[in-house]
Amino acid sequence: MSEADCLFCKFASGAIKPAVVFETDTVLAFKDINPQAPTHVLIITKRHIATINDLTPADAGLVGELFLAAKEVAKAGGLAESGYRVAMNCGAGAGQSVFHLHLHLLGGRKLSWPPG
Ligand code: AMP
Ligand code: ZN
Repeated sequence: MSEADCLFCKFASGAIKPAVVFETDTVLAFKDINPQAPTHVLIITKRHIATINDLTPADAGLVGELFLAAKEVAKAGGLAESGYRVAMNCGAGAGQSVFHLHLHLLGGRKLSWPPG
């Protein structure tokens, strides 16, 4: 399933090629175009899901794959020991601007908590 006007669906299909760092049959990881940390990678589902609110129990494994991809990207980027953050914004009020499910992986600098 994809949406014709969805940027991340175009990345998933290969119609537009982002800076890919990791890929499986079901997820794709690429560099964020406006990085908020030395490492800022987005990990998307290849299938279009707009937000966390649209997940169903059948998607549980797929969501797990997003986190396993984050682990691999962090390890490859040398962040496993220094620490990193994974975050997913849900809805405009939380800062979501692209309505296609994605995890942010941030690392390479000190990260404060709570986020603003
Ligand atoms: P969010 O605000 O949580 O929906 O995150 C969307 C992210 O997508 C932001 O961090 C943007 O910088 C990033 N983004 C938007 N357009 C592109 C693009 N063409 N290539 C890579 N990342 C993008
Ligand atoms: Zn999409």
